[in-house]
Amino acid sequence: MSTTFARLGVPASISRALQRGGIHEPFEIQAAVMADALAGRDICGRAPTGSGKTLAFGIPLVANAVKARSKRPTALVLSPTRELAEQIATDLRSFAGEVRVGVVYGGVGYDRQRKQLRDGLEVLVACPGRLEDLLAQGAVRLQDVQLAVIDEADRLSDMGFLPAVRRLLDQTAPDRQTFLFSATLDGDVKTLTRDYQNRPVTHTVDAETPDVVAADHRFWQVNQAERVAACARVIKAAGQTIVFCRTRHGSDRLTRQLSQRGISAAVIHGGHAQDRRTRALRQFTAGRVQALVATDVAARGIHVEDVASVVHFDPPEDHKTYLHRSGRTARAGRGGLVVSLLQPEQMGEARRMQRRIGLNEAITLPDAGDLPDQGAPDVASVRTSSKLAMVAPASRGSRRRRR
Ligand code: ADP
Ligand code: MG
Repeated sequence: MSTTFARLGVPASISRALQRGGIHEPFEIQAAVMADALAGRDICGRAPTGSGKTLAFGIPLVANAVKARSKRPTALVLSPTRELAEQIATDLRSFAGEVRVGVVYGGVGYDRQRKQLRDGLEVLVACPGRLEDLLAQGAVRLQDVQLAVIDEADRLSDMGFLPAVRRLLDQTAPDRQTFLFSATLDGDVKTLTRDYQNRPVTHTVDAETPDVVAADHRFWQVNQAERVAACARVIKAAGQTIVFCRTRHGSDRLTRQLSQRGISAAVIHGGHAQDRRTRALRQFTAGRVQALVATDVAARGIHVEDVASVVHFDPPEDHKTYLHRSGRTARAGRGGLVVSLLQPEQMGEARRMQRRIGLNEAITLPDAGDLPDQGAPDVASVRTSSKLAMVAPASRGSRRRRR
């Protein structure tokens, strides 16, 4: 990767702000889309979690922002979850300069969101449900939106938001520029591209996925009674860990059980008010707690740097969820540890899922003894571990399709 943001046509004010935030060179998807996106083309981008899609759309969004009138943003980003929407807004603000960035989502009061819209914003980051509510109240209009971004289109689709996304896009300027980003581009996402994009340039960053390729995947057979202890051992050995549970109740319980074992944990699930979720996330990102226990919906799209490991305390719903969960570690090409805790009746399903994603790990008894030392394992140490040699050794360093 030898190009620079400046050479891709990114304005100096933006590349300077990015550098202040430690971002010096574009990632592959960013380099791939930047010139077309800045030139006003529609972009359809497929790239795995952690590949840097936010800046890929965010830089053109800020660079080409048109001054907005009250209640009439000129750029719109649609996002499936509150946490992801917040994250996008935070990322954009880090280099947005004069360009005003606002964010709206459900679960919090309307007043502040209505005021921000009244004061005027160029870029509005929104979850579809709340945005429709605000439109119905006359708090915002979308006719001036010249650039729309559909982020995590596959997730929006999985969560049932596509009808709302369509209704929202229908209200934006018909000649707008449209970006669509997704980890997959099939099914409903393809239809969305067909109906809402104009001769898009498609860019894909394939499948040497940071999540699957760079991580060290373990599958442990544990009894119900051993699960909490096994989970605690991973956290103690690996450091900052996100633990996935299926239910709100289960995640609350596990959080308590971990703390009884001397592990500080914060919990994040949809049953909590937004400020509580934000606080939990902050405790974790600041390193004040060792573990973040989360349900899938709450964790969708949150980006936490340097997570040493991911534990699937309850099995994921399907292979896509496994990839999304596991993508919390080994982001941006760094190594990471991913541990699935399987009860005897869950092993068949786990094997089927392994086959879907091309993993070939043996299911073993818990072996915390040879877990990496405390702190994020680096890529080199993970790559030399014997476990990894079992994951398609021939494909290491070469491109490998993930689905
Ligand atoms: P995703 O493709 O999942 O949306 P993000 O855009 O959130 O990924 O980026 C993943 C992580 O990589 C973020 O922490 C982000 O700050 C970081 N990142 C993105 N682009 C760069 C870059 N060019 N250089 C360094 N870090 C980057
Ligand atoms: Mg993203």
